[in-house]
Amino acid sequence: MAKWSDIDPAEMQPESLMMTYGFRPEWSEGAASPPIFQTSTFVFPSAAVGAHCFEIAYGLAEPLPDEHPDLIYSRLNNPGMEMAEDRLALWDRADTAALFSSGMAAITTTLWSHLRPGDVVAASSPIYGGTHHFIETVLPQYGIGCIRFDVHDDAEVIADRIAATGLRLGMVYVETPANPTNDLIDLQMCAGLAARFSSPERKVPLAVDNTFLGPLFQHPLEHGADIVVYSATKYLGGHGDLIAGAALGSHAMIDPIRAMRTFVGNMTNPFTAWLLMRSLATLGLRMERQAENARKVADFLRDHPKVKSVNYLGHLAAGNSQFDLFQRQCLGAGGMISFEIAGGRPEAFRFLDALRLFKLAVSLGSVDSLAEHPASMTHCEAGPEANAAKGITEGLVRLSIGVEHPNDLIADIRRALEAV
Ligand SMILES: *Cc1c(COP(=O)(O)O)cnc(C)c1O
Repeated sequence: MAKWSDIDPAEMQPESLMMTYGFRPEWSEGAASPPIFQTSTFVFPSAAVGAHCFEIAYGLAEPLPDEHPDLIYSRLNNPGMEMAEDRLALWDRADTAALFSSGMAAITTTLWSHLRPGDVVAASSPIYGGTHHFIETVLPQYGIGCIRFDVHDDAEVIADRIAATGLRLGMVYVETPANPTNDLIDLQMCAGLAARFSSPERKVPLAVDNTFLGPLFQHPLEHGADIVVYSATKYLGGHGDLIAGAALGSHAMIDPIRAMRTFVGNMTNPFTAWLLMRSLATLGLRMERQAENARKVADFLRDHPKVKSVNYLGHLAAGNSQFDLFQRQCLGAGGMISFEIAGGRPEAFRFLDALRLFKLAVSLGSVDSLAEHPASMTHCEAGPEANAAKGITEGLVRLSIGVEHPNDLIADIRRALEAV
């Protein structure tokens, strides 16, 4: 009898595979739904098998083509973690994925694994505060420099900035759309830049933080990226109840990251891996609904007299170079909006304090709608002047749209704006 476990994943879309792929009920007493493999270690069937597992783990032997080496210890591998990784990889059509204890664990381990002293990272701006701090403050202590570029800089300007450091380019690191302005960075341009500084001995990877749109509405690996990283805390987890991260790409790119993870010990745990796997089954449903809701909320905000401007990808108009980029590299506008309230910080705070359904909280991508004030919260480290130059003004509010009824979300915003 044909079994779901025999399905070739290339035959189907990820939505159809999230409940089955990579799991065989016969491994778990016939359970239709995978159990949580809450174990630290695994029993070897014989000493010889145990020795062979270690040879493979330490790269002293290659696994045979159809061989699935036995599991050793949950810092290296765990069945639930591997299943969640295999399923996540399908969404981005990546060869492989590695799960981490947080998005920052995935990002920092990716940087550590591919950079060496004497390298410079070219990173887009603005980026996530934790990543910004790590690149600007921590990496320089290890002899790794950084240069920054934004949506207005072309490849020549960036190449000149890299050359001026006198260091070797080690990685191009990009967040697109940018948080919280939704500026789009040209991935093809970045891939060209990375290729220009690559040599036969060393490929300069392009890494993309795909947390905002992925993996439903943007597939960076199809636009020249080598590594995709996620804060799985956000849309992938999607319920505001876990912290996790992921790095995806080819084996050549991800294997060193996974090896570093083994020694740093920042893998995800069995329960979180199980929660993530469960979340992946509804990823498409959630993100589609969040995107539909976001469109309605963004349209409402655009027409409101107390709103100065709205940053929403679905409002980009033809003739704008950002619109061309959106058409080329995005598949949807997603669920993130920021908008500027007429006035400044007092008006933004009054609005935030008057919300009832939206929660006043950082983070994003959850089933519940969240609102925050980037200038004083997620982006406060840069300071008011640098922030204003990036469009992160005192009146700017960021919304992460959830799966509530859109009319209730709009009513909540309308009422809170009346309080301003
Ligand atoms: C939240 C976030 C991160 C950090 O992820 P954690 O899971 O909180 O460690 C990185 N990048 C982006 C774009 C994020 O939104």
